[in-house]
Amino acid sequence: MKNTKAYAAASATAPLAPESILRRDPTESDVQIEILFCGVCHSDLHTVRDEWSSVMPTTYPCVPGHEIVGRVTAVGAAVTEHTEGDLVGVGCLVDSDQTCPNCQANVEQFCPDSTFTYNSPDKHGAAPVTYGGYSESIVVDEKFVLKVPGNLDPAGVAPLLCAGITTYSPIRRWGDIKGKKVGIVGLGGLGHMGVKFAKAFGAHVAVFTTSPSKKEDALRLGADEVIISTDAAQMKQNTGSFDFILDTISADHDINAYLGMLALDGNLTLVGAPEKPLQVSAFALLFGRKSLSGSLIGGIKETQEMLDFCGEHNITSDVEVIPIQQVNEAYERLLKSDVKYRFSIDMASLKQE
Ligand code: NAP
Ligand code: ZN
Repeated sequence: MKNTKAYAAASATAPLAPESILRRDPTESDVQIEILFCGVCHSDLHTVRDEWSSVMPTTYPCVPGHEIVGRVTAVGAAVTEHTEGDLVGVGCLVDSDQTCPNCQANVEQFCPDSTFTYNSPDKHGAAPVTYGGYSESIVVDEKFVLKVPGNLDPAGVAPLLCAGITTYSPIRRWGDIKGKKVGIVGLGGLGHMGVKFAKAFGAHVAVFTTSPSKKEDALRLGADEVIISTDAAQMKQNTGSFDFILDTISADHDINAYLGMLALDGNLTLVGAPEKPLQVSAFALLFGRKSLSGSLIGGIKETQEMLDFCGEHNITSDVEVIPIQQVNEAYERLLKSDVKYRFSIDMASLKQE
């Protein structure tokens, strides 16, 4: 086992602070990775503050981070897909049983025995729970290690490992969105990637935002139009006109307002995971035969497909690179919807601790 520098929260009310954790020695199927960048996902904040306690209570200390890009520093004897020096990524998953129907169908995120990158029981026993990417290094089974296209900026690639796949997967699953009217609700980490992917697949993209100051950015990111969701007149004008809406909002909100934007047979897919249950009006679904669904990250195969797509189309996340010492301030800004459009932590900064 190896002592490894990390940033951890000691409780739901404690700030993130330097901590030493143990990483296992690589087994024969493991890849050891020096972490270069780690994105800051709103899920990190929900977990650190135990906001999902009713579904997935947080075990402390908690080391978040599941948008990891790094360099391979060692591989086990049986590893075939990665070699020392490779630029690789790790997302939200680090293990699954590999045998259940969901694993067989390449949707390991729905394996009943999947291991998430942080806050899941650690099957290797290095710690009570897995520890994420706000750390110097990580050891991961090679099946859960992704290849990162060499032409992309690693700081902007890190967020693809969660925000990227979480928006890519439902957009692909919806079908051919070319020429369809697609709404992206919330222009944050997930939302700005949703805009890029929906545009790349040929949709007419509208951003719903509560932040009028983000309008210019939304258009620059590829949106065809911007709807200020707090402006009743703008909302009314767009009623019943969307084929597909992706809702990325991290906080409580009126989902019925967005269901009202859907056309006949339209679908709203939730990826945002607010702390409290949302109230859905039956009538908002009944009139117009609308559907409401959810989506959780994506499997490993699809995540690699998404990374390759990004390599081919030069797509990365728009990032504000920060040292780990600014992570608590970054969380406060995230809560104010004040990030353009993802924080990416430069892990070299952890060496100073
Ligand atoms: P984020 O960067 O904080 O973006 C969330 C955006 O939602 C904000 O930028 C803001 O956009 C909007 N928003 C925030 N509070 C709002 C409110 N009270 N009312 C209306 N809009 C509000 O967060 P993120 O990292 O993209 O994550 C978004 C959510 O997805 C989180 O709940 C996260 O846990 C979840 N998530 C789910 C998955 C999954 O697999 N399903 C994966 C990753 C993350 P505007 O300023 O444009 O209004
Ligand atoms: Zn995430």
